[in-house]
Amino acid sequence: MMKTTRKMLIIEDEQDISRIIKDYLLKHGLEAAIARNGRDGLSMLEMLQPDFIILDLTLPDMDGIDLCRQIREHSSVPILILSARSSDTDKVLGLGFGADDYMTKPFSLSELLARINAYFRRYELMTATPQPADHVLRFGALTIDRKAFQATVSGKKVAMSAKEFELLYHLASHSNQVFSKTQLLDAIWGYSSYGDENTITVYIRRIREKIEADPANPSYIRTVWGVGYKFSMD
Ligand code: CA
Repeated sequence: MMKTTRKMLIIEDEQDISRIIKDYLLKHGLEAAIARNGRDGLSMLEMLQPDFIILDLTLPDMDGIDLCRQIREHSSVPILILSARSSDTDKVLGLGFGADDYMTKPFSLSELLARINAYFRRYELMTATPQPADHVLRFGALTIDRKAFQATVSGKKVAMSAKEFELLYHLASHSNQVFSKTQLLDAIWGYSSYGDENTITVYIRRIREKIEADPANPSYIRTVWGVGYKFSMD
């Protein structure tokens, strides 16, 4: 497999933090650029087409939450949020606006790198499996294209975060198999220290809102009460 250098974009106004992150990532073989405010972040996103964004929530010119929403309108690039706020409510809220991951300051650089690398490993596995015929899953009006990292409903593209897509793909590619929330956390986030099972509840709700005609009566992702979820059209 050809190894290309991954491009990271760090959107953070605190110079010492962004420099430390950048140097650390460079040392570990990742390219990294820094934007010092939201506006620069948006234009650099377009210019650099980064593979991953590290986004601080408190920026001088805009709220990181708004920026995240804006990015999500036209890009599924993975976004890891940095925040000084540590409550679990913030964590879940943080996942409600399209971010894929969340770390609280102060954080460990090796943990940050581990999460980034875990994401790229999963991404490579999903996009590089040499089975060209089956990279598109079709279920009624829904198609899920693993290579393009894109779902469509009735031919219309669904705007999804990377983690939303991974979760949907994981369920759909194991059709009729029931997964517990813990199993899904493990499969999609890949580390047990992450968040709690509410994360999965939030993600499932958001995916349903995007792909289901009637999210309250889902026809793709079914709740299996007391157990978890399964993808089934039966
Ligand atoms: Ca800041």
